[in-house]
Amino acid sequence: MRIQDRLEKINNATVLDTTDFALHPHRTIVIRQGTIAEIRATDDSDRPGPAVLDADGRIAMPGLIDAHVHVTAATAGLGDIAHASPNYIAAQSSRIMQQMLARGFTTVRDVAGADYGLAQAVEEGLFRGPRLIFGGKALSQTGGHGDMRGPGQSQVDNHRCCPAIGVVCDGETAVRTAARDQLRTGAHHLKIMLSGGVASPTDRVDSIQFSDAEIRAAVEEAEACNRYVTGHAYTARAVNRGLRLGVRCIEHGNLIDDESVELFKEYGAFLVPTLVTYVHLKRDGAATGLPVESQRKVDHVLAAGLEALDRATRGGVKIAFGTDLLGAMHEYQSEEFEIRAQVQSSEEVLRSASLTAAELIGAEGKLGVLAPGAHADILLLNADPLADVTVLAHPEQSIDQIIKAGVLEVDHAASR
Ligand SMILES: [Zn+2]
Repeated sequence: MRIQDRLEKINNATVLDTTDFALHPHRTIVIRQGTIAEIRATDDSDRPGPAVLDADGRIAMPGLIDAHVHVTAATAGLGDIAHASPNYIAAQSSRIMQQMLARGFTTVRDVAGADYGLAQAVEEGLFRGPRLIFGGKALSQTGGHGDMRGPGQSQVDNHRCCPAIGVVCDGETAVRTAARDQLRTGAHHLKIMLSGGVASPTDRVDSIQFSDAEIRAAVEEAEACNRYVTGHAYTARAVNRGLRLGVRCIEHGNLIDDESVELFKEYGAFLVPTLVTYVHLKRDGAATGLPVESQRKVDHVLAAGLEALDRATRGGVKIAFGTDLLGAMHEYQSEEFEIRAQVQSSEEVLRSASLTAAELIGAEGKLGVLAPGAHADILLLNADPLADVTVLAHPEQSIDQIIKAGVLEVDHAASR
């Protein structure tokens, strides 16, 4: 088979079921118009053909979902992106997304930066990349995590054609307008900054951001459109406040406490830890454009991150897989599997990058699962991620073929 060939059948696959984490050998996956029509026992009628791929017993699993990416983050200096040509950033994004697809991520959820234009370009096949779930620009208060001005700068350019990852808005009315502006362009979610962060030059990681009324305004606007708000937050103070005000998902959450765990469960909220980014911001941040003020913040959140993941896992919180890499660090995306495996079982890590991430983005039954009615986003592996999930940290070795909507997108086996 050749790249971009459309598949009708995969014979003799060992199907990894992400609903019960069992392996079902000797299965045929029938694909019609990009969707899985049927999964049944392979029999004599399953002969080779031009649109048929013989898995030869290899493991078939659903395409991976990364629930925290920034596909427009061509550099770790997020302030510089705002002043770049949108055309240049789009070209960079297409490269970043093609590489994500080659790591087995057939769906990514962008939580600041990507817009409807990029999603449309992938859908129309202008370049190859994962399905793009986008939220438009993140909402930030003045001096918040989405405000990339240094202390000596005064002007803020919120023009929607600037490729800045955030929009600065203060007061309930401005937050509402900014929220509606993202939603009118088809945003799947709204991202708001609930606390300080690493990549922003003037805020403190331990700060809380936005007033209660501003957060409620964003939540109200999202819910009016049957969408949800996801919040960037590190400390328990910021996380717990956001959850109480109706935020449905927390990004990072490195410094959560036991009360946070209870609140996540009470509200049925999701946590998207992003650990690999701190490992590499610490190691390569300076070389990839991260400002000095930001480098100092990394230590603080790095150590706590694994402990938070452990606490949330033991507490039964719904956890989705995320990475949050910027610039040249994107290449480390798959290392997140190795980091999580330090505190989570293979099954727990796999669930976070399939079933739970699909639930977060409202695609239950469509993504993160191999079943009739689901998109035919399928990885064929020569290793068993259920026995050891860290095989996914080396996708060019462990993943032979990557299929999206029934189309063969990447063939690592052929290039080995
Ligand atoms: Zn992020």
